Amino acid sequence: MMNSSHPTREAGAEGLFLFDIDGTLLRGAPPTHREALCAAARAVYGAPLTPERLGGTAGMTDSAIARRALRGAGMSDDAITDGLPSFFVAAAEAYERSVPDDLGAYLTPHAADALDWLAGHGAALGLVTGNIQRIAWAKLSAAGLAARFRVAGAPGPLPWIGAFGDEAEDRDALPPLALERAARVLGPGCDAEAWIVGDTAADIACGQASGLRVIAVATGPSHTLTELRAHAPTHAITDLTELPGLPLWGAA
Ligand SMILES: [Mg+2]
Repeated sequence: MMNSSHPTREAGAEGLFLFDIDGTLLRGAPPTHREALCAAARAVYGAPLTPERLGGTAGMTDSAIARRALRGAGMSDDAITDGLPSFFVAAAEAYERSVPDDLGAYLTPHAADALDWLAGHGAALGLVTGNIQRIAWAKLSAAGLAARFRVAGAPGPLPWIGAFGDEAEDRDALPPLALERAARVLGPGCDAEAWIVGDTAADIACGQASGLRVIAVATGPSHTLTELRAHAPTHAITDLTELPGLPLWGAA
């Protein structure tokens, strides 16, 4: 039954945790995502990109990855911008066609358990990811995690909280979008204890830019724990196994 008012948070419900995907919940997956971006670049822009030519992409949005690579292929910013809506659709279709059925082997340590532990403590879960939205959901579905990001009992047509890499090129623009959606889904005031959880300096920076607390997780390909600590996240941990040991509540 649809309810037109905001759902009441459960007693003891605390915190909103906005997760990055690549390097944070999943790592080492086959290069399906990079291949899909390249296939879309070829189809939409006629640009002969290859996964190797995309370079290092950790912490970048798919939009920013595309713009950098297409500029490198000699395209003008106007032409890139004009093609982006078609590019997002083509990349999503390519990814959905080729994503492995089961990405469960690529979960980072304790990823599913950490999400369940947070939800069990009344926390709301959401996404702040550089992935194109359709790619994010296809990836999380294959990893067996998508259902954990559906908000039970949420009113209206938005049963999830998040912001995605086809909504902005600058990662710093994503947390405000996710918070705006969280307010619609959970009710006002839900950002009082919001966290970003991610594996790169860009995740830390985007949380800090919105005044959010940040848990940096050293499971990604580009940053060690020491490197993450240099960017002053609220907490830095080796992997999500350590998340339940953090002082997450009542320590604002
Ligand atoms: Mg990441």
